[in-house]
Amino acid sequence: MTVIHAYSYINGKTTKASDQPDNSTYNPSKTSELVGHIYYPNDEQLHEANLSAHQALKQWKSKTSNERGQVLHKLADALEEHKDEIAQLASREMGKPITEMTGEVLRGVQLLRYYSAEGVRSDGEVIPSAQPNVLQYTKRVPLGIVGIITPWNFPVAIPIWKIAPALICGNTILWKPAENASLSAYRLVELFHEAGLPEGVLNLLLGRGSKTGNYIIEDSDIRGLSFTGSTETGTQIAARCATRNIKYQTEMGGKNAAVIMPSANMTAAAAAIASGSFRSAGQKCTASSRIFIHRDAEETFTTALIEEMKNVQLLPATDPKSYLGPVASKDQFEKVSAYVELAKKEGNILYENEEVIEEDGYYIRPLIVNNLSRDHAILKEEIFGPIIGLKTFQTLDEAFDLVNESEYGLSASIFTNEANETFKFLDQVDVGLIRSNLETAGVEYQAPFGGMKQSSSYSREQGQTALDFYSTIKTCAIKYE
Ligand code: NAD
Repeated sequence: MTVIHAYSYINGKTTKASDQPDNSTYNPSKTSELVGHIYYPNDEQLHEANLSAHQALKQWKSKTSNERGQVLHKLADALEEHKDEIAQLASREMGKPITEMTGEVLRGVQLLRYYSAEGVRSDGEVIPSAQPNVLQYTKRVPLGIVGIITPWNFPVAIPIWKIAPALICGNTILWKPAENASLSAYRLVELFHEAGLPEGVLNLLLGRGSKTGNYIIEDSDIRGLSFTGSTETGTQIAARCATRNIKYQTEMGGKNAAVIMPSANMTAAAAAIASGSFRSAGQKCTASSRIFIHRDAEETFTTALIEEMKNVQLLPATDPKSYLGPVASKDQFEKVSAYVELAKKEGNILYENEEVIEEDGYYIRPLIVNNLSRDHAILKEEIFGPIIGLKTFQTLDEAFDLVNESEYGLSASIFTNEANETFKFLDQVDVGLIRSNLETAGVEYQAPFGGMKQSSSYSREQGQTALDFYSTIKTCAIKYE
């Protein structure tokens, strides 16, 4: 397999600080396989990126939005053409099963096409004036330079759902991906430039949060920062942005719940719970990890779930049949393994996958646990791995309390055939993404996405709402005779 070298990409070109890599990535599906070397930028190059984003801003924002849309359209075509290359690289880098990863790259293509079409949509409104002969209207304008800081679990879709709306609004960008998503980030940015993205508009800065991330937040000239990652990092970044009066949005952790009612179609509910909990090894921010079951549904649902687990195959990410691959890194493996031990010590194991994997990778067997107290760590903390905790309840109000007592508020689902239960759930549960008879994971690109409580700064990504973050409004008034 080819070993990839990834650098920062500043002012339209690869920028090397040293011949010695700062970090190397090994395939989480097979840890003896070196995937690539990563080179971080030095201080001078960080400043150069800021300058380049400044210089590019004037021209990029003065293009018509139609012209910017045409550029985005070309990026979409290029990504579609290279979808297998990007998907394979990202999958080797962070372990997402190849079928899911290819779907994620295609989501990136859809996002680019969706936002390219914004170039010919309305960007303001006419507001009647109280004075005669005055035309009063609003106009959406870019913020300027924006910072984008992304996690590793959606290495393509999350960056693109920030980059595409930022670009169509006329901003230029400093983007820092997660360390273990740097190889695919580099190739993506290289590809975008090959497809015609003007230099300086999108600058890729690799490196650690403590250095590169810190530079973007503290020392660059950004006017907005969009962050996705853990609640711990996001809340401290938000405080620093507030001090500098930089517009920010933070999308963070989750501890997502699903509620099973007796009237549900148990086979369909079990399939949705397995998919929402175990695909990508439970490393989706919207993955289900708390399953609350009405006492009258306990036996039928758990029987259906255990039956469904026969389809949940733990295989290397390269296998198209892989339902879940490894977790993404050694850190993830150690963190999730500690929760597995805790679950085995303090809970009752209802199901554990018994497949034996020949490869030496960061594999964690899917685990279903019950008999936990309602404030147990397995039901409270974000594990970000293939473990779910089950708990029974007796009344719908009790289920609402269980769902709402989490500090997080990203997504939740109810499985029922009773319309009243669905509507009450939609009304009473405090999460940003709320669903009935659908898994907690996943949202369509044209719909707003984001959480409540400790999951979000309450702004929304994707769909039309993303444009509100990457722009501000000028109110214009013209007097004529
Ligand atoms: P993380 O918070 O460790 O890192 C996210 C990004 O922030 C990385 O690029 C990292 O290098 C950077 N960073 C870290 N410290 C920084 C600092 N001090 N200054 C600036 N940047 C810094 O998160 P992660 O482990 O990469 O991702 C997993 C987390 O992301 C989970 O909690 C998951 O729920 C969350 N997530 C949320 C969403 C959502 O939309 N709500 C989506 C995906 C992932």
